[in-house]
Amino acid sequence: MSDYIVSARKYRPATFDAVVGQKSLTTTLKNAIKAGKLAHAYLFCGPRGVGKTTSARIFAKTINCMNPGANGEACDACESCRAFNEGRSLNVHELDAASNNSVDDIRQLIEQVQVPPQIGRYKVFIIDEVHMLSAAAFNAFLKTLEEPPAHAIFILATTEKHKILPTILSRCQIYDFSRMEVPDIISHLKKVAEREGYAYEEEALGIIAQKADGGMRDALSIFDQVASFAQGNITYSKVIENLNILDYDYYFRLTDSLLKCDIPQVMLTLNEILAHGFEANHLIGGLASHFRDLLVSRDAQTLPLLEVAESVRHRYQEQAGRCSPKFLYAALKLCNNCDINYRTARNKRLLVEITLIETAQLTQENADDASGGRSPIRRLLPIFAPVSAQAAGTQRTPPAAAARQAGEQNPAAQAATSRPEPASATPATGITHGITSTPSGIRRSGGMSRLNTISLHRPEAPSAGGASTPTPLQPTTPQGAQGAQEKQPFSMDELRHYWLLFANQLPADQGAEAGRLQMIVPTLKEDFCVEASVDNERAAKHLEMIKPRLTGFLRNALHNDFINVVFKVDDSVVTRCVASPREALAKMCEENPAVATLVQKLKLQLC
Ligand SMILES: [Zn+2]
Repeated sequence: MSDYIVSARKYRPATFDAVVGQKSLTTTLKNAIKAGKLAHAYLFCGPRGVGKTTSARIFAKTINCMNPGANGEACDACESCRAFNEGRSLNVHELDAASNNSVDDIRQLIEQVQVPPQIGRYKVFIIDEVHMLSAAAFNAFLKTLEEPPAHAIFILATTEKHKILPTILSRCQIYDFSRMEVPDIISHLKKVAEREGYAYEEEALGIIAQKADGGMRDALSIFDQVASFAQGNITYSKVIENLNILDYDYYFRLTDSLLKCDIPQVMLTLNEILAHGFEANHLIGGLASHFRDLLVSRDAQTLPLLEVAESVRHRYQEQAGRCSPKFLYAALKLCNNCDINYRTARNKRLLVEITLIETAQLTQENADDASGGRSPIRRLLPIFAPVSAQAAGTQRTPPAAAARQAGEQNPAAQAATSRPEPASATPATGITHGITSTPSGIRRSGGMSRLNTISLHRPEAPSAGGASTPTPLQPTTPQGAQGAQEKQPFSMDELRHYWLLFANQLPADQGAEAGRLQMIVPTLKEDFCVEASVDNERAAKHLEMIKPRLTGFLRNALHNDFINVVFKVDDSVVTRCVASPREALAKMCEENPAVATLVQKLKLQLC
């Protein structure tokens, strides 16, 4: 099992054509190489995990290839290509500016720049996370960037282009990498699942792709996390359980109830969701995203904006057909207002309930409009109408069902929902639209995530092997503080799973650390020592900073207070490449045909 290798490393593309989702960009690079028009400095910008460093490595390999193909790809067979593939090429230098950002680091790099390559034509310097270089380091670098030797090519990669000095920007050819599309990620995950011999449901991969938010490395890392949890059978239900995601089935059901104005059912569904430990504002955020997805499903033009697995696409289209655009706009607005008011509302549940009721009543409004106000449904309205219509505005009190919930006084929620009606609204309906002074449109923050799936950090959720998921990124609790120490044994699979869980949950501003951890396969040594190999000393030093939290997290998750994480520098870590069980079997059969005969005769199968 120590031969395990993370998918993000194992399936890292080795040619331009294999890079997923950046077609136009890789084509441009290939054409530049074919035409021999190389710049001295490139800047690769884009979100994390979309292939910047990978493309930089392929670029370095290709321009040094001794027999490049007519298609602009490297031959993969010459001495230079082999050296690249085996990670021993002296023509590529990678510097991670996140951990090597001092003037001294840059000086070392500049010294290397002066030495011409021994094999091949170019020396390529890849500086990752270049925005992390200190100002002094930037200045030291600038001179080399202005007048580099003919054999030197710089590729700077960054997730934050706006932090790069204009003097650097003006000297680079800039390539903007885009977020990967969900369908692209899904199809890549499918290939990986097939190669690894995992069973999968397409919807499950769809959820992983959405959760990864356009980054392939994140997608593969979440994929590994789920695969270890689901033991190679990646089903939709396993994924939502492991990732703590609210099943989109709830949104479909809720929307159906809302369209029918079936308020009791809406209340019951809400209750069911809250009972599962999800927070109400996440539901509202997810519901708003669902309405948004329905809106884009209505029109063939906007349909490409719907980022879901092919298998659920028709479900969106079907439900969208039953929603009027007017309903969807108004519902989005209600959800948005609820999201804005959520933080200040004293009775948050009530606020959400009122929002849902108002959304349900939108359908009644439509009926009103269509029948000139004489729809029979209108007679139901007094149930939800003001108990006492007060002087100027149309003040509204919560509906009976909600009022029962709000046993306690709830001035905040009340205030949030009983605003004076603006002149433009339709007073006849007796329903305010919750209009606030905030500009309309969806606020893209907090609970209003782009995804209609939600990740939650529940303090105690059931998880792998019946163990409870710890609060993410919890700080280390001092040993012995709570009396007896725990010392439960755990498997390698469990260790890997929680390792990835930690890495995948790191916040966006710790992308560099997350990226490193995602690429590491920890091994278990004696006395619960968890050893992690990194490829250089500086990276190890960098990760030391995050070690206390990681250790605390693992101790908590695996119920073992004796776990200690050790980062070890290992040069060979980059080049190690090991097969999946399927590939290992194929190799064994190749080396010893008797194995193949045995497998055939006994009809053996890998499981
Ligand atoms: Zn070659």
